[in-house]
Amino acid sequence: MAKDQTVLFHSTIFGPIHSRRLGVSLGVNLMPDDGKVCSFDCLYCEAGFNAQGTGTTGLPAPQAVEKALRAKLSAMHDAGEPLDVITFSGNGEPTLHPRFEEIIDTVIKLRDEFYPDAKVSVLTNSTRIFDPSVARALTKVDNNILKLDSAVEETMQLIDRPSSKDFTVEKVVEALKQFKGTGIIQTMMLRGQHDGVTVDNTTDTEINALIEAYKAIEPEEVMLYSIDRSTPEEKLIKIERPELDIIADKIRSHGIKVQVN
Ligand code: SF4
Repeated sequence: MAKDQTVLFHSTIFGPIHSRRLGVSLGVNLMPDDGKVCSFDCLYCEAGFNAQGTGTTGLPAPQAVEKALRAKLSAMHDAGEPLDVITFSGNGEPTLHPRFEEIIDTVIKLRDEFYPDAKVSVLTNSTRIFDPSVARALTKVDNNILKLDSAVEETMQLIDRPSSKDFTVEKVVEALKQFKGTGIIQTMMLRGQHDGVTVDNTTDTEINALIEAYKAIEPEEVMLYSIDRSTPEEKLIKIERPELDIIADKIRSHGIKVQVN
């Protein structure tokens, strides 16, 4: 755990990674191979803080994504390897790619060609859902996983540290309603300290605010998760499974479907 933690993925296509939760997942990183580009700078980001810089390789062109993904899927298919999901994540926020929708269309086409039963998942921080093209692209994927870490403005600012001053809880909750019944809201539960300030989105006030937000958004489901790997802010505490289960039950009591990871 170190403040000098840097990016995890050094290519556009990575994996496949085998996980109990997702099965066999092939990753797509639309951000640089050697730097991070994100509109948040979360205290818990596995890719490290934005201060590490944006690297030198730039964002991959859609043609390069298509070529690399086709080669990988073709090789996996020829080898008889299974694939459960193609997941957009990586060194930052995938929807910041200016040609995100075009790439989504291409990836869906390749999925249909090689692994028609595999899902396409996007992990997004929700900062770009105000853009019609991004929102449209997200409605095309199987798992549209949207971040909402706190429904309390001050806490969201502390944890996620959005780069735009225009980004607020109020605005994002309103925009998230467009994915009513189809979006999956992902919330990282954590406690800790940053620069001497206490950060905690597990208090009753926080959970009650989240429940109100979830009720307004009406997602397909809520996904609660906790810190899994080292974090750039070292003073964060992993919320253990029993506590996550208690929080999940409280949210479920309001008729909201919750998955705990
Ligand atoms: S939104 Fe994701 S990539 Fe961006 S800083 Fe937060 S955890 Fe890292």
